[in-house]
Amino acid sequence: MEETTWATVLETNGITVAEMLAQRLEAAEIPAQAVQESAGKAIGLSGGPLGTAYVRVPVQYLEEARELLDVDDPADADDIVICPSCESELELDDTEWEQGWFVCPVCETHVSLDDLF
Ligand SMILES: [Zn+2]
Repeated sequence: MEETTWATVLETNGITVAEMLAQRLEAAEIPAQAVQESAGKAIGLSGGPLGTAYVRVPVQYLEEARELLDVDDPADADDIVICPSCESELELDDTEWEQGWFVCPVCETHVSLDDLF
């Protein structure tokens, strides 16, 4: 892993809520940050308590974070991958995302997620 890619878990109405949720994630050992839209600065620097804020986690924690916070995936499209071998659309479960590979149920090819992204 080189640089961390941050992904938005959810939007909140106000930085206070985002901060609270980020703390919940951190309590579950998921690195998280609460970010306010206006400046995109980390919490505690500036900005009022209102306005759209975001809870972010490193992209590899996204599914876990969503599950923990009980966020509905807006579109399940995030979970869909295309098998490079037979081009089937496949929905992976969390275990497969975590382990970084899956076996295509259609063509039985062993596919590494690193090869897909
Ligand atoms: Zn396949």
